[in-house]
Amino acid sequence: MRGLMMDNGLTINSLIEHTNKFHPKTEIVSRSIEGPIHRYTYAESYVRMNKLANALFRLGIKKGDRVGTLAWNGYRHFELYFGISGIGAICHTINPRLFGDQLTYIINHANDKILFCDLSIVPILKNIVANISKVQTFVIMTDKENMSQVELENCLCYEDLIENESKICEWPEIDENDASSLCYTSGTTSNPKGVLYSHRSVVLHSFAVCASDGLGISARDAVLPVVPMFHVNAWGIPYACAMTGAKIVFPGDKMDGKSISDLLISEKVTFSAGVPTVWLMLLQHLSETAQKLPDLERTIVGGSAVPPSMIETFEKEFNVSCIHAWGMTEMSPLGTVGHMTNSIKEIGNGNLLKLKAKQGRPLFGVNMKIIDDDENELEHDGQVFGELCVKGPWVTSSYFEDETDSFTKDGWFRTGDVATIDPHGFMEVVDRSKDVIKSGGEWISSIELENIAVGHSGVLEAAVIGIYDKKWGERPLLICVKKEGIELTHDDIISTYEGKVAKWCFPEATEFVLELPHTATGKVKKSVLREQFKDYEFKG
Ligand code: AMP
Repeated sequence: MRGLMMDNGLTINSLIEHTNKFHPKTEIVSRSIEGPIHRYTYAESYVRMNKLANALFRLGIKKGDRVGTLAWNGYRHFELYFGISGIGAICHTINPRLFGDQLTYIINHANDKILFCDLSIVPILKNIVANISKVQTFVIMTDKENMSQVELENCLCYEDLIENESKICEWPEIDENDASSLCYTSGTTSNPKGVLYSHRSVVLHSFAVCASDGLGISARDAVLPVVPMFHVNAWGIPYACAMTGAKIVFPGDKMDGKSISDLLISEKVTFSAGVPTVWLMLLQHLSETAQKLPDLERTIVGGSAVPPSMIETFEKEFNVSCIHAWGMTEMSPLGTVGHMTNSIKEIGNGNLLKLKAKQGRPLFGVNMKIIDDDENELEHDGQVFGELCVKGPWVTSSYFEDETDSFTKDGWFRTGDVATIDPHGFMEVVDRSKDVIKSGGEWISSIELENIAVGHSGVLEAAVIGIYDKKWGERPLLICVKKEGIELTHDDIISTYEGKVAKWCFPEATEFVLELPHTATGKVKKSVLREQFKDYEFKG
């Protein structure tokens, strides 16, 4: 017997229709690319989304067509998220920090019909425009006045495009399983791969983002997503804000410590999310200027491992809870969040910090297991580690027009992360499978060694890679960026490892560099470090 409930599809339009109707006056604030702070309400945004959707129809966009965006976090990008998906087309967000060849590959592979581009990204677009001939229309996301500075021929102006359109759009019927958005993985070793989200997966994921054990976004929040809208839909935050009517504060293209802290303070932001590198810049700026963050209640940090010292600084110096989360482009991205449970509240402070530094507990909707080389499931004892595999309604079932097989025989997605799961359900990423250091038949976690190094007061950032060693196979090399004006030696840093890991895990040597290479999404590019240090030999 079938249930007798209404069969209302879970579509992205329903999110913004809800907010327009029930939170029309809530503000969306953006640091615009042109300079000034831009403010409007959800209701005003909704009108412009309708106009945009009508403009897309006029340009010939149909259901299933891909429409690309090369843009930072701002109100026009937000309008595109809903205007494109709302008419059944696919909002393809593209990371402008990628190399030209990768951008060309991604835009051609996705077969984008229209490309929307922020003013400050036009120089990047200019470099690749000759190689993306299938794109029919380019739209620069600015107004008439600022179009004069655009040195690219035959492109439209966003404000002109929508100006004379009707404020009412006949949104088409959309099946909840239709594709809504497309995002490519960074692809450090092979070509980037496309992950194609559906309306249903986005809405279900938004429920999880809003749940208290998720990111807990609510109508009482002012939310500043530092994580870019071209990186896994800014972790789903724009959709979650629309679901709840939370105030949104978009930082534009300014991610430096001062710009972010100015917005956090002036807009009374309560919740923010980003990768550790961005928070490092913020914390450094705050310590230099002796500023506090009076309204910020919590920050979610993920994308790469969060050092325990960062969690402590946020909590002790700023009274901000710093919550660790883990996920992937292939998972929309949210998989685990490090909220505590009643059963572990009694454990002592030192252990609590260890637990908070783990990647967290799976949300309902994400099933998770760790497996050995023969795909046997391993125990959840917090010790045994294996490859982490996931399943769920917002996990990819295959890549977009790509045959890459990343699945187990029984259909779980193989994450490529090596992890433990403890009896409390906390997952801890030991390493990426290709980054783990194999020394004398044992495994050393590069993440653990990096976290300890950045716990030293003189270290700004650290990376650990395996270096060939005749006797042990591989030994860990620590590569460090020192804080300004600090003198430091290998021996100084090594003393911080005492009592934290076994002696044979200690880094064999330390090399100091001025900066570490980062990927377009803020992770340390270990492939570049491995290449740079490929002939490295330990002394003695
Ligand atoms: P991306 O698809 O670019 O978001 O990258 C996903 C990968 O980033 C994961 O498979 C992990 O290797 C890494 N990652 C994401 N969050 C964390 C985290 N909190 N700790 C450690 N690694 C992480």
